[in-house]
Amino acid sequence: MFCPTCGTEVNDNAVVCVNCGCKLKNDEPKKSDEIVYILLGVFLGAFGAHNFYIGKNSRAVVQLLLTLLSFGILLFFVQIWAIVEVCMNAKKING
Ligand SMILES: [Zn+2]
Repeated sequence: MFCPTCGTEVNDNAVVCVNCGCKLKNDEPKKSDEIVYILLGVFLGAFGAHNFYIGKNSRAVVQLLLTLLSFGILLFFVQIWAIVEVCMNAKKING
């Protein structure tokens, strides 16, 4: 593989580039992931969509069940909860 920063060919298992010293393994979510996460949280947060998206399935199921089992009565509150989560996690995703 090639270093995305300087273009030097580096070992596939290398963690940092030998030429420029930049970190190679990009395990942070991409910017587009963050936007999808925020949109899911804002529009479908009451159904746990944003948590399903980042793999927090247990929390997502809790939100989904709260909304569905209350026949939408708790939807507003779960939605507020979701937006608070999105605000907190979006900062983390941004670094
Ligand atoms: Zn490099």
